[in-house]
Amino acid sequence: MKDESIFKKIINKELTASIIYQDKIVTAFKDIKPKAPIHILIIPNIFISSSNDIDEKNKDILAHMFYIAVQIAKKKKISEKGYRIIINCNKDGGQEINYLHMHLLGGKKLRPLS
Ligand code: 5GP
Repeated sequence: MKDESIFKKIINKELTASIIYQDKIVTAFKDIKPKAPIHILIIPNIFISSSNDIDEKNKDILAHMFYIAVQIAKKKKISEKGYRIIINCNKDGGQEINYLHMHLLGGKKLRPLS
């Protein structure tokens, strides 16, 4: 698994990335290797390693990430047709980067999970 530095640099604008939304709590940017016409990552501005580290103190950040993902889906006009929101966790879940991130995927008919 890659460490968190890439996403920290994106938040701090030290790395070129297509940031499409940022506020005090989250940053959203285009995935470098998109798996769908719309593939956006939404991450918390404070470092959270994975969904295993969601706790009583930081759980509201997840609600905000979800809310922003839906707002972006509406803005990108994929909300009516539909989209997918994914969070991978650790090795078996397919998490490649050690920084909690939500994938927003859409713009085409996505394959079923099974
Ligand atoms: P995971 O498999 O951890 O859930 O997803 C990590 C995602 O981060 C992958 O879809 C990958 O393409 C994306 N990614 C990895 N490195 C970079 C990068 O430097 N910039 C951007 N924008 N996305 C990245």
